[in-house]
Parts: sequence; C-alpha cells; structure tokens
Amino acid sequence: MPPKRKPAPRRRAAPTQPVSVVTGGAGFLGSHLVDLLLARGHRVVIIDNLITGSTDNIAHLAGDPDLRFIKQDVTEYLFLPGRVDYVWHFASPASPVDYLELPIQTLKVGSLGTHKALGLAKGKGARFLLTSTSEIYGDPLVHPQVESYWGNVNTIGPRGCYDESKRFAEALVMAYHREHAIPTRIVRIFNTYGPRMRVNDGRVVPAFVSQALAGKPITVFGDGSQTRSFCFASDLIGGIARLMFCDKETSELPVNIGNPHEMTMLGFAEEIIRATGSKSRIVHRPLPQDDPKQRKPDITRAKALLGWEPKVPLAEGLEPTIAYFRGRLGLD
Ligand code: UDP
Repeated sequence: MPPKRKPAPRRRAAPTQPVSVVTGGAGFLGSHLVDLLLARGHRVVIIDNLITGSTDNIAHLAGDPDLRFIKQDVTEYLFLPGRVDYVWHFASPASPVDYLELPIQTLKVGSLGTHKALGLAKGKGARFLLTSTSEIYGDPLVHPQVESYWGNVNTIGPRGCYDESKRFAEALVMAYHREHAIPTRIVRIFNTYGPRMRVNDGRVVPAFVSQALAGKPITVFGDGSQTRSFCFASDLIGGIARLMFCDKETSELPVNIGNPHEMTMLGFAEEIIRATGSKSRIVHRPLPQDDPKQRKPDITRAKALLGWEPKVPLAEGLEPTIAYFRGRLGLD
C-alpha cells in the first residue's frame, strides 16, 4: 500500500481577512472577480468543474497563498471547513452554443448548484450573490429592459434550459432570503466581453474577433438587425462587487448590470472589422431559434442604488480583448 500522504497545511484566514467562495471562479467572469477580490485582500476559494472554465484563466495566480482551487461540480454537496463571509455563485455555461451542448448541466447548475451554494451560505452565515442574466427577459417585449419587467421566455425552446434555470435560481434565492433571512443579492448580467472569453465559445465577440483576425468571413446571423449592448468585463465586475457590498434597503432585489450602448449585430461586425484592421467580408447565416431581437439594459436602478455606470467605451475595451485573442490564436 502506498504511504499515506500528509495533507498540506491549510492557511487560516486572519480574523479580519474576508473569505470569499467563488463558484465558476475559473471562468471568464469568475476569474476577473477572483483577481479583484485578491487585490482587495480577500482569501478566495474557487469551486469549478472546468466544463467551460479553464485553469489558464487563473494560472497567473498559481502559488498565491490566499487562493485555493477545488475542482468540483457545484451541484454536489459543498463541504468547506472554516469561515466563509461571501458566496459568489458564478458557475454556469453562459454561451448559447454551450448550453445547447450542455442543456442538462445548465439546468442542474442553475437549480441544484444554486441550492448547494445557498446551503453553503446559510451554513456559514455568509452573504450570497447570484449571477442571473438578461436572458430571464427572453425575447423582450419591453425595451430597454427594466428590472420590473417579467420577461417573455419560450420555456421549451433551445434557450429555455438557461433562461428557466436562472429564473428558478432567482426564485430560490428570494425564498432563502425570505425563509432563512440570508442576505442575498441578484445581478442580471447583460452581454459582456473582454480577455479570457473562450475563442470557440460561439458568442458573438470571440466569433467575430477570431474571424476578423484570421481574415475569414464574419458570420452575421439573420439580417444583423438584432441588437445587443456590450459591457467591458472590468466595468461589470466593479458593478457586481458594489452590489455585494451594498447595505442599502432593497439591495436584495435584482439589479441590471450592463452597458446601455446598443448596436445592431451588423454594425458590430463593421466595428470589429475596423478595430482589427481586417479585410474580412460579412456573410449572413440563419438566425438561431428564439434569438432575442433587441437587448439593452435600463441601468437607472444600478446608478441610484450603487452609484455605478460603465466607464469603458467599446473601442477602448476592444483593444485588450483583440490583443488577448491574437495571443490565443498564436498571431503575436
Ligand atoms: N451572432 C452572430 N454571429 C455569430 C454569433 C452570434 O450574428 O457568429 C449574433 C447572435 O445571433 C445574437 C448576437 O450575435 O443575435 C449575440 O449572440 P451571443 O451568442 O453572443 O449571445 P446572446 O446575446 O444571443 O446570448
């Protein structure tokens, strides 16, 4: 029998050092949050099963004594010894292509995973934040989308697994808040971009940027008149952190975080061609089923409650994003 390995000694957080658990902390947005929390002196535990996340996103943090990584599916029981002050539930596939490929995992992480993450927060007396989504508005009949709008979702369509799991997650968070008096927060994230998005995750930013850099045709779905509004990752993470640490009344109710600068996908393709200096041409492909026709956050509530609004204009945010994709595609 091999000799028993002595477990590595675990550092205990200093009494004043906040402890944060980040589910999905190896993902695109989760890893940016981890950077912010470590910079603010938190001790951070990442829980991620790496089905869409990657250790590449946290490789720069290797050896940091304040970081612990646990490879685990958050739908399974979460056991952690010691104190936890904040639970940030970021785990979920978040690209339409990913949740088409992983519909059951997507439903499970939004439902069972949210249940486990809430159970952890309850057991530890921690504050809990759910990353919900603009997708809960479905193909919206109210524009721009305000938090009081209840949405227009096709439950049985290809996006239903994501939209409904997040709608269920919001309901579960509010039930835990009301039933167990847990301090909870719900952020509804609109389209976000930046370094660490997966090149092949199918979302429009990695798709257009990698096509433009490779000189391949830019695939605009449908006639390209559908709209989105893109928020740079650092703006978004700053807003989410403000929400978690906000103590004002009503901060348990959902808050939209996103950039209200709305553009058509055809206009966005042209912007990417300009920003990359590409010679790519635009081609049209069929519009996926239930693709929302328009999306733009109303951020009145985020401004009033958090004093937050995005600062990074698209052209500025695209620079590091394009540089990141250049590196990933080996074009440096
Ligand atoms: N889109 C596109 N070409 C692509 C990928 C996406 O025209 O190669 C469009 C898609 O139809 C949608 C928008 O870009 O209208 C944003 O798609 P994304 O997958 O990024 O996320 P969504 O906002 O739909 O969740």
